[in-house]
Amino acid sequence: MICPSCSNVADSAEKYCSRCGLALTTRSQKLLSAAGTFSWIMRRALGGMFAGIIGWMLSIALNRVMSMDTAPSLTVELLVRFAIVGTFLGNVGGIIERSSYKALLGGVLGCIGGIIGGLINRPVYDLFANSTSAYSISHLISWGVVGLFVGMTSGLIERNRKKIIAGLVAGIVGGSIGGILGSTLYAGLLMDPSRSSWLTFRFIEASAGAVVGINLWLVLGLVEKLYIFRRKQISAGSEKVCDFCHTQNSLRAWYCKNCGRTLQFAASVEKLKITPYRALERISNAFKFLSWLSAVAGIVIVVIIFISLLFQNILFAIFVSVALAIAIYIISVVLNGISEMLVKFMKIKESE
Ligand SMILES: [Zn+2]
Ligand SMILES: [Zn+2]
Repeated sequence: MICPSCSNVADSAEKYCSRCGLALTTRSQKLLSAAGTFSWIMRRALGGMFAGIIGWMLSIALNRVMSMDTAPSLTVELLVRFAIVGTFLGNVGGIIERSSYKALLGGVLGCIGGIIGGLINRPVYDLFANSTSAYSISHLISWGVVGLFVGMTSGLIERNRKKIIAGLVAGIVGGSIGGILGSTLYAGLLMDPSRSSWLTFRFIEASAGAVVGINLWLVLGLVEKLYIFRRKQISAGSEKVCDFCHTQNSLRAWYCKNCGRTLQFAASVEKLKITPYRALERISNAFKFLSWLSAVAGIVIVVIIFISLLFQNILFAIFVSVALAIAIYIISVVLNGISEMLVKFMKIKESE
């Protein structure tokens, strides 16, 4: 058992925490697990926020670069925005779980959702052109489509049709809420003529992306935690046995080492070794997340810059792309290094 007040790890037979004296009842344990669930969902919402901010700002910067030669049509502009933000939002779950193939699958799904969402945005707007809420409706539907695709990721990996549908519905709901709030906020702030400095514009873009990302991942995270990732508590014995091929896996395993399928068991917290330095662990995880996210942003930026410069000068395109790739690689490694340093610090403290 873990004391919900001071995080002291106690024997399951102990009635009171030996460090702070709190009664260790099933109710206090329920409180601890509720707090754990809450922070689990908040982690996804925060991840969605960072991904939304970076995606939105990047898409606007790209649209600005593209419009230097010839102004792109509104459809292209919308397509670029939705596809890029969709890719970033789709990455969130995989990055948090440190699974690159899940991040890739989510990113591809988010990008497809973004392309469809971007293409239908203007037609939907025209359909409701007489209504004052045409702008809101079109963004509600477009972001709902992005959410639909992003939401399917976890269910697809578990190869479970019910979970795919649950994620898809959660994605539509979260995406629609985020879309209507984010785009209304964005349009409202942009139309205000008193806000015109460079910094305010960047802030407006960042907050629009943040609102879309937070709402999508808050709803999706809730459904993932309560339904899609619901696991059987492990009973007697100390191994997770695969439902599909019956291979025994260690308690720390999430996926079967033999067939790669998701393990449908969870070990209770006291069976896993956890660090008492949980705030440090969270900060470390946040840096790890930003390290991955900057790598994703780097890949997107390098590919786009390379393609756009290719038609002007091939050598220059290669030179700029390589220089950019190195710069982003350094940023990503430094962020990862900070994360690892914090982990090391946690372990030093633990062994004292
Ligand atoms: Zn305690
Ligand atoms: Zn298996």
